[in-house]
Amino acid sequence: MRIIALEEHFLTPAMAARLAGAPAMSEAIHRKLADLDDERLADLDAGGIEVQVIGHTVPGTQAHAGDEAIALARDANDRLAAAVQRHPDRFRGFATLPTSEPAAAAKELRRAATELGFVGAMINGTTGGRFLDDPMFAPLLAEAERLELPIYLHPSEPLPAVHEAYFKGFAPGVEWWLSSAAWGWHAETALHVLRLILAGVFDRHPRLQLVIGHMGELLPFWLARIDDFLGRAPTGLEHPVSHYVRENVHVTTSGVFTFPPLLCTLLVLGAERVLFSVDYPYSSNDDAVSFLRAAPISRRDRELVTHVNAERLLKL
Ligand code: ZN
Repeated sequence: MRIIALEEHFLTPAMAARLAGAPAMSEAIHRKLADLDDERLADLDAGGIEVQVIGHTVPGTQAHAGDEAIALARDANDRLAAAVQRHPDRFRGFATLPTSEPAAAAKELRRAATELGFVGAMINGTTGGRFLDDPMFAPLLAEAERLELPIYLHPSEPLPAVHEAYFKGFAPGVEWWLSSAAWGWHAETALHVLRLILAGVFDRHPRLQLVIGHMGELLPFWLARIDDFLGRAPTGLEHPVSHYVRENVHVTTSGVFTFPPLLCTLLVLGAERVLFSVDYPYSSNDDAVSFLRAAPISRRDRELVTHVNAERLLKL
């Protein structure tokens, strides 16, 4: 069975030097993030994964501004393109974009698509406190739609004021995980998607495609209730919110390897919208693949999730 994974990370030396040092970053994780050759390929082989689509890990260039962000993004994309060139059967690239400079980000997305052969972009959460529905990002979203490149919207740190109000009052380890991988990242990414929908982004860009990880960042479980309260009357949208989630959002299995959320996501969104991912190296290729092989789903759905949907979305 061909397996393609989409939320798989790397880290450039330049951005590693600027990382504050999140508790998630063990020595082994740091080493695997930095490697774009032997260890990564061995890990892919161990899991039975054929192709890894690679994107820069959090916070990436979303934490940087101006010329620095532009230079860091170019460096990340050039390094990743070189790795894809070394291992063309195994790697594909998601572009890193200097979103603090939206015109430059649109230009870099164009370069990544036309010169480097990348298949989309990965954006880590907010940029300077702004979500992607901010009008400043309109040229970037228009370019992604024009180039038919999906944007993988990845979680990242909450804004300082949100952290202060929502996550304080616990031991440092509890506080950090509550604000990030245990809850905060995912609730914020769901909010990010809802903001894009409610701002009418997909009425203006009906062909724009987002990808979100972690089994839909809580949205599949909650979608019917969102429709109940944010129907067409208050929103003024052309469709119910769930329509946009089903037509403009793809969901991956990254980092979530239990059956109830997988089955919920398949039931709510349909198997054509669900794609396999690991969240390498934070999760193990082996765990992710074993989970999907054991999942109580049809052979056809498993084919869609493991590779057919990715081939279609990313034109592989
Ligand atoms: Zn990730």
